Amino acid sequence: MANNIGRIWETDPDSKPRERQFSEDFVGRFRSGRLVGKQPESLNEWRVTTGDPVVAEKIAELMGGAAEEWDTDKEDNLEILTDSASVEIIIESSHKIDASMKLFGMSGLVHHCDGVEFLSPEEDKGQPCGCPKLLQDRKDKAKSGRGPKPSIDVVFKLADAPELGLFRFNSGSWELVKVLHTVIADVDKVGGATEEATGGPVRATLSIENVSYTTKAGRDVSYNKPVIKVLSTYEAAQPLADAA
Ligand SMILES: [Zn+2]
Repeated sequence: MANNIGRIWETDPDSKPRERQFSEDFVGRFRSGRLVGKQPESLNEWRVTTGDPVVAEKIAELMGGAAEEWDTDKEDNLEILTDSASVEIIIESSHKIDASMKLFGMSGLVHHCDGVEFLSPEEDKGQPCGCPKLLQDRKDKAKSGRGPKPSIDVVFKLADAPELGLFRFNSGSWELVKVLHTVIADVDKVGGATEEATGGPVRATLSIENVSYTTKAGRDVSYNKPVIKVLSTYEAAQPLADAA
């Protein structure tokens, strides 16, 4: 007997139920902060958002916390405030780490550069963007809303549950941007990248670390920063159990 189920929508394709889609094929996002009212709050443990209840359940199982709905008009309407400050991840290659500088205005992205030249829009690409040379000057300008801030994107899988798919972490951290070139170099080195080839996947930890100190003037400073530490190569075909 022929199986004609595949033709059931042939005459009325618009009625075919859509497969669930997540924008840009990410199953969830790792976030190091949240909004409390209108105030941004930085978190000591990872917050993960997803639209998929199965992913949410697995995250809660692996990292602690419980899935709850949160107020968003995006599709990742479930959040898990986990108990984990650190998680082991798989980064496919250094191409999965991207960084640029962005300033958003009322009408969207108004300054998009690499610190030296514009990256977009197309007609400005490659032109000098006018950002200050020194990091501190860039930070000051960004703080006053007149200059772009870092926008770092990392795409990864969870080492403990790679089957879930890709997650994304976006960060505006100046601390991360300062060391990002060494992270990228580590991913390339450990993954065995060459001039010609991109190299293989690596295991790394993605952590939220607290930095606290007292300044010479006696002021207490405390802030969190995201840290990526490359550990080793990742072998996709992991043995199921240690043969002891
Ligand atoms: Zn710029």
